[in-house]
Amino acid sequence: MAEKNLTDNEDHGYISPSGLEIIYHCPGSVNLCKNIVHGPERERVSSPAAERGTMLHEVVRKFVVGEEVSIPEDGSESVLWCLQRIKSIMDQLTEAGYEFFILTEHKLDLRSIGILPSKHGCRADLIIVVPNLLAYVIDYKFGTYYVPPVRYNWQFKAYCYGAYEMFGVPVTGIKLQPEASLENYRFDSWSFSEDAMVEVGASIIELVNRTNATDAPLVRGNQCTFCRAKATCPLHRGIVLEIPQHVTINHHLQNIDPIGRTKLYNDLVALKKWTDSAIDNVYACAMEGMAFDKTEIVDKTGNRVWNDHPSTVINRLREIAIALGKNPDDVVVPESPISPSQAESLFGKSKKVKDVFEGMTNSPVTGKRLKLLK
Ligand code: SF4
Repeated sequence: MAEKNLTDNEDHGYISPSGLEIIYHCPGSVNLCKNIVHGPERERVSSPAAERGTMLHEVVRKFVVGEEVSIPEDGSESVLWCLQRIKSIMDQLTEAGYEFFILTEHKLDLRSIGILPSKHGCRADLIIVVPNLLAYVIDYKFGTYYVPPVRYNWQFKAYCYGAYEMFGVPVTGIKLQPEASLENYRFDSWSFSEDAMVEVGASIIELVNRTNATDAPLVRGNQCTFCRAKATCPLHRGIVLEIPQHVTINHHLQNIDPIGRTKLYNDLVALKKWTDSAIDNVYACAMEGMAFDKTEIVDKTGNRVWNDHPSTVINRLREIAIALGKNPDDVVVPESPISPSQAESLFGKSKKVKDVFEGMTNSPVTGKRLKLLK
């Protein structure tokens, strides 16, 4: 379990379920948050949107527990939408003959995964428990902003883990976001098996432990928008991409949802175009005489291509394949020969193969580039 200073966390909630998303992307943000000096009488400043969200949460809570409350004009449809979804879950359980109980605004104990109690955090909006069978953790989101699906959402994962630890049953997380801009973002759920919950717990501990290092990396990204350390962060100078530097791309892709993956891919493609154009500009400056240290201008060569007609190359590659005991059919992709580098992977890079390829390929010149001199 990660060790944290209870007093500090109690006051400022450095690591909270809703803050895990920031920590995942930027482990170093916790160190910066600890250095923020807060006045002793610091008031929590809420935006109008946050205040509205708090008010709507309270209205739904009161309805769910049967307290008297009037529906506010602003948000009435959203409140009713949430209540319908909650009622439908409860009705299904009742019809199936299950007995259940509910907890609202329940403060979950997440200390075993490194999240210490705080004044305001660790509260799931609604937990429905069928003892010894299953639990639902339901969280309402009022607003149109994008909320990642439960399966990829660190806040939900932490809440679900807390419920799993408390009741020892598989947990289904449910996001109710009646005002989400797209209809299919409004309701989302994911069921975590007991094994999945154990994995979630381990991954959160790993996340929290990363923040303990004094040199935990700072990583810019979209999460900066919600980061408390933004004002003091030396890295916050605009946003390029939100790729954490301390995990592999593969790991990162597994931790973001399909929409996030597509966005990342589009951003990477856009960044590549921007980088190519920026490099062309650097090159143009060099050609115009701007000085660069320890460099020279050389021809830029592209990927190798076959010199001869495709049918000639295919025949030649087949001969090489047979001579090397490979399948001659592997040298053709639909109607053309495989590329020189694919052929190299197939045949290996022995001197014999290199000598044969020498006469069959060339690398076209595609412009100029700056080369660093050794
Ligand atoms: S502003 Fe961004 S880069 Fe800086 S600490 Fe916060 S999340 Fe990290």
